[in-house]
Amino acid sequence: MRRAYKYRLFTNANQDRELGIMLETHRRLYNACLDQRKTAYEATKKSVKYTEQSAWFRAERHTNPYFARLNFSSAQATMRRLDKAFSNFFRRVKEKAAKVGYPRFKSRDRHDSIEFPSHGDGIRLTGNRLRVQHVGTIRVKLHTPVEGEIKTITLKREAGKWYVVASCDLGEVKVSPSTLPPVGIDVGLESFLTTSDGRHEPNPHYLKTELPELRVTGRAVVRKKKGGANRRKALRRLQKVHVRVKNLRKEHHYQVACRLILAYGLFAVEGLNIRGMLRNHRFSRAISDAGWAGFLSVLRHKAESAGASFVEVDPRGTSQECSGCGEEARKDLSVRQHNCLHCGLSVHRDINAARNILARGQGRTGPAEVNVDHGVKRPPRNRRVHAMA
Ligand SMILES: [Zn+2]
Repeated sequence: MRRAYKYRLFTNANQDRELGIMLETHRRLYNACLDQRKTAYEATKKSVKYTEQSAWFRAERHTNPYFARLNFSSAQATMRRLDKAFSNFFRRVKEKAAKVGYPRFKSRDRHDSIEFPSHGDGIRLTGNRLRVQHVGTIRVKLHTPVEGEIKTITLKREAGKWYVVASCDLGEVKVSPSTLPPVGIDVGLESFLTTSDGRHEPNPHYLKTELPELRVTGRAVVRKKKGGANRRKALRRLQKVHVRVKNLRKEHHYQVACRLILAYGLFAVEGLNIRGMLRNHRFSRAISDAGWAGFLSVLRHKAESAGASFVEVDPRGTSQECSGCGEEARKDLSVRQHNCLHCGLSVHRDINAARNILARGQGRTGPAEVNVDHGVKRPPRNRRVHAMA
């Protein structure tokens, strides 16, 4: 099992500058390689290979002092990142996908991380000290100790602050299957989520609270002159608000997931087509605000390590079907109570949906085909079962 640990770095002014130069050099390397591929493609319709670019970079190091100071493996990781962007691009062209974007040049605010593909090569994390080649030893805010063996390390800059992400291999983790009761979960706008046994988790609406500040700081950025120091400062302020929202949301997800893990042993959730839902304009902000997709992935990971099962079901019709008798009870989104004319069941709309989701997750109703998947491959679209053996 892999697990990532993220820690804040306490850099001094000198380290800040060195890291900044390193990040900028990686960005230039990325853009130079992209330029090579673009030029070659436009001239001859031929693609430049990763190995060719790696060889070019090796030679270029003799004359370019900035390139010479990059850790070779991390530079390779940056070139591989570009290579991946291109293979994704060609795959999407082949699939005739609706929107295919040519890989883009990275601007300063779109390039924020440096990967070190093997721990100990150019970078080493020991306790609360991070040693980085050409930068020195940086103090780490180690809020939790690292477990397992560190495999890869990533340096990240977010809103002007530096972080280190250590991806660790925890080895084969034995988890015994959970004996806790099953639950169905309906995610919504009124409540963040509703469980089949009738618990509502309120929606925190972080973005809504921060929105005035986002608007004000966002407008300030636009007003400042492009390329000027004031614009950079305003941009930094805006990024800070975004990071705050992101962190609050993440923390909320973890707290809710932890509470659920202590109470249940099987989670049946909607296999949401979030992208499709986002297209519905009126609800789009509230939907992305709640960040369901992010929450479900946290819950899935937590379930995995707790020996709980995680089942995604086809959500179609879960709000219209009666969980008491299976008959259809049509209602539009404004109707918050489920009243069944057949069996007389009267229950909150979301609780009814959560009960249907649980029933489908346990294979009692709904589409018959079930795909068993251990959460490694990309799951199929509608119905997925992640059996945690
Ligand atoms: Zn009924």
